[in-house]
Amino acid sequence: MSKTDEKTATSKPKEFQAEVAKLLHLMVHSVYSEREVFLRELISNASDACDKLRYEALKNDKLMAEGGELRIDITLDKKAKVLTIADTGIGMDAKELSDNLGTIARSGTQAFMEQMEGAKSKKAESADGDNVHLIGQFGVGFYSAFMIAERVDVVSRKAGTRKANVWSSDGSGTYTVAPYDGDDAPVRGTSIRLTLRKDAKEFLEDVRLEHIVRTYSDHVSHPIYLEGRQINSGSAIWARPKSEVSDDQHKEFFGHVSGMYAEPALTIHYKAEGRHEYSVLLYVPGEKPFDLFDPERKGKQKLYVRRVYITDEAEMLPSYLRFVRGVIDSEDMPLNISREMLQDNPTVHAIRAAVTKRVLSELKKCADKQPEVYGKIWSAFGPVIKEGLYEDMERRDALYEICRFRSTRSEGQQNVSLADYVGRLKENQTAIYYLTGEDAAKAETSPQLEGYKARGVEVLLLTDPIDAFWVRTSLGYEGKPFKSVTQGGADLEQIPLADGGKDKPKADDASTTGLLTALKGALGDKVQDVVKSARLTSSAVCIVAGEHGFDRTLEKYLARQQGHGVISAPVLEVNPSHPLIVTLAERQAKGEDVSDAAQLLLDQAVILEGETPDDVAGFAERLSALMAKVYG
Ligand code: ADP
Repeated sequence: MSKTDEKTATSKPKEFQAEVAKLLHLMVHSVYSEREVFLRELISNASDACDKLRYEALKNDKLMAEGGELRIDITLDKKAKVLTIADTGIGMDAKELSDNLGTIARSGTQAFMEQMEGAKSKKAESADGDNVHLIGQFGVGFYSAFMIAERVDVVSRKAGTRKANVWSSDGSGTYTVAPYDGDDAPVRGTSIRLTLRKDAKEFLEDVRLEHIVRTYSDHVSHPIYLEGRQINSGSAIWARPKSEVSDDQHKEFFGHVSGMYAEPALTIHYKAEGRHEYSVLLYVPGEKPFDLFDPERKGKQKLYVRRVYITDEAEMLPSYLRFVRGVIDSEDMPLNISREMLQDNPTVHAIRAAVTKRVLSELKKCADKQPEVYGKIWSAFGPVIKEGLYEDMERRDALYEICRFRSTRSEGQQNVSLADYVGRLKENQTAIYYLTGEDAAKAETSPQLEGYKARGVEVLLLTDPIDAFWVRTSLGYEGKPFKSVTQGGADLEQIPLADGGKDKPKADDASTTGLLTALKGALGDKVQDVVKSARLTSSAVCIVAGEHGFDRTLEKYLARQQGHGVISAPVLEVNPSHPLIVTLAERQAKGEDVSDAAQLLLDQAVILEGETPDDVAGFAERLSALMAKVYG
């Protein structure tokens, strides 16, 4: 029996939180192709623990003195099949061992599990690799140890305390925490002992371990020793000159800061000099992290002061850039700055503003020079960037420059910029027209677009829920206001028709006016108004929102959010050139009753909007009666 066994035998087993148990089950029972990432995760935790100690030691230098140099040690016991990763970092007391390694105190756990299980059940040849990719992103790094270990013992001594404790588990539902007084307890920090599974003996080979460390953890700024020999280069990658950092090194570091195993789409690496001196190394990923829209997800740029890690919660970029990951390292902030003080620190404010500006200008440069790369960034993060259009008035103009949209002119998946749009304005066109909807293909067939198409006027198709919000508060781009094609007067008449405006037969003005009044009378408060349409060319009718209310898509969205489904009565627009309307106007002028026709016209317009008529039975009855006249 080993020492750890003796010590844990006396303590009462505790159950893992349900999510952890489920996660561990996945770890233990799935065969992953990239199990080696467990080492990256454990080293990353060890490195964080060293960073935390260094930060605490700024206030209390005894902490550093008692446990010696900050370092990470990997040692092997080939006979016992034990791999140990030890750090001289902050350590954990008994309660922290239990809290940190028995629960997952994070939102989005459910989403993560679902993705893990989803990826697993797909059973594609490469799927095992895929769900491993999620582990780092989610930050359940520690538990990945159970991919390769049949038993894990964590002996830890918290900095500034005398006692060590040991956490032990075989990953099958329970763990124990007990005091530990073996002589091999760390003086300060944590020692993670992995008793390897039979199928994981490869992780006892020096060469293999050294290769893994170099691949994933070379950048770690604390020395990593393998059996006493330092194997990482251990200098901060962001502080090196740009030309001396290779693509592979960027990829590795991006992996560390984002948890993703891929190339970053965009790398922003520079040193600012002048009033404030700081280094910046930021990455824009090429794909979405799974919890991008989690409301608790914060910007996770890491703030350092002269190579000392301070926090990743300083919100160094606005929340609409929360997908950007990396490091900002200040040369001139005081080292002993507390996290609480960061909020009001003028240097932090200045750096934040300057870096935000730089990120936006780098995105613009990417959009101009590498549209394909930018296309990837936009499709992953466009909806997030657009949050800035109503959150950050100050930078709205810069944001407009990097926004891309589907439009009635976009070819295939190619998006258009506002500059493209404005460059194509038609004679007398004074607004940027848009249509909001849930999907672009459906929006494109909307009858409201007919008049715009007939005039060759481009319309933006806005299909993200966020669009309906920013567009309402926007003052326009380059002096051109945004205008919904489903709202208010279309002011289209001053724009010439593409075919030169060949006149179609139209109901005369007097009988049109008569018809509008009759329809309005028949429909009562089901409509706000019935008006002549300029936006229709081939359909007979459509519905739009009044000039001053909400856009209909936004109103529907809000109604759904508030759970009542009630939206205001629409305006019914009637196309005076449509043969049906011409006939109806003539008959109405002769005194015929048009109330059934009025109902049918409204119901038809409602259906075209993707909605259901109020009175479905009445609709069917009227339609049958009409068909009976034709076929009866
Ligand atoms: P994450 O590191 O993303 O928070 P983990 O599951 O890997 O998730 O670790 C959970 C927590 O356990 C960490 O946040 C940290 O507080 C603690 N922890 C893990 N490893 C160590 C270590 N070597 N030293 C000190 N604390 C640790």
